[in-house]
Amino acid sequence: MSHLMNTYGRQPVAFTHGKGCHLTDTEGKTYLDVLSGIAVNTLGHAHPAFVAALAEQAGRLLHVSNVYRLPQQEALSDALAERSGLSEVFFCNSGCEANEAAIKLARFYGHKQGIDNPAMIVMENAFHGRTLATLSATGNRKVQAGFEPLVPGFLRTPYGDLEAIRQVVQHHANVTAVMLEVLQGEGGIHMAAPEYLRGVRQLCDERGLLLICDEVQCGMGRTGKWFAYQHAGILPDVVTLAKGLGSGVPVGACLAGGRAAGLFCPGNHGSTFGGNPLATTAALKTIELIESEGLVANAERTGAQIRRELAAAFAEVSGVVDVRGQGLMLGIEIDRPCGALVGRALEIGLLINVTHDTVIRLLPALIFGEAEVRELTEKLVPLVKNFLQE
Ligand SMILES: *Cc1c(COP(=O)(O)O)cnc(C)c1O
Repeated sequence: MSHLMNTYGRQPVAFTHGKGCHLTDTEGKTYLDVLSGIAVNTLGHAHPAFVAALAEQAGRLLHVSNVYRLPQQEALSDALAERSGLSEVFFCNSGCEANEAAIKLARFYGHKQGIDNPAMIVMENAFHGRTLATLSATGNRKVQAGFEPLVPGFLRTPYGDLEAIRQVVQHHANVTAVMLEVLQGEGGIHMAAPEYLRGVRQLCDERGLLLICDEVQCGMGRTGKWFAYQHAGILPDVVTLAKGLGSGVPVGACLAGGRAAGLFCPGNHGSTFGGNPLATTAALKTIELIESEGLVANAERTGAQIRRELAAAFAEVSGVVDVRGQGLMLGIEIDRPCGALVGRALEIGLLINVTHDTVIRLLPALIFGEAEVRELTEKLVPLVKNFLQE
């Protein structure tokens, strides 16, 4: 027994080291990692150039306060602005913090217009984090239960239903923003249709609302574009990032542009650790290596290959409802709860995840290649077929 607070259902395994897309446990057994710490290890494990950059930075400077200028933070804000199309960035340490910053921006934006009870529209099935404001924005009762009273100011519509947003906006003059995941992750791998996103963008423009895209899971090249909203050809006002941004070093970001730019002044928001030299070096190096190794294109190509191969393998399998997703953010929906698959996959050296009870979720590192695809299909396909035959 340890003294850990009981917040996770953990698998009975501990890893000592990793290399590329593989991890090794304390018994010396190796595993194919198709979870990447839940979309975090963008570059896989122990990427030599990444490790060298971190070691070098750690030997020079880990942390100085945000009361000073931080050159790596400035360089990273330039790199993110250039790739996202937004103009300014606030750095924090996690996804929920990035969303907290976005929610504060939306409220601040409302107050500036004389709305003293600003509200925002959020989606059914959404996941935005576990702080009080972000769990209130989350569309999953299991995340909220027992933590009431919830933070007020969130109005919910079905994901993908533009008319529902229009109705809410018509009946609530205090709405100042719409927040959504372009590809819902925890909610079971559901991608918003491009026409829906373009419609939401247009409605937000007509009404002067902020469009906030939570790309904490789907951003940073994972879907085959730098940011998932780019598949629809839209530009949000606010974008939040975290998971894959630092390849395993905790770092989050809230990007703003358009009518969301220039709102905060000194004193409105802050973070002690946010964007420190180690974290921003990790993110800068992640972006540099994603680019030099062509990993956004690899996410697109390899993701399409996995989807094609799994769709073919499961075509005649009656218990498999759907194989879906974009790039290296994939889901296989099963017709029954399949959480037990996680432990069985572990036994055969495969690390996967099940979300929303019935969806096997695959979030491999962006370096996932041919050999890994073969190992994945050879292990996963019989595993799922056997499970469905019981
Ligand atoms: C994981 C996740 C978050 C929360 O990120 P944390 O770093 O765990 O706080 C928020 N939004 C989305 C879409 C996520 O997938």
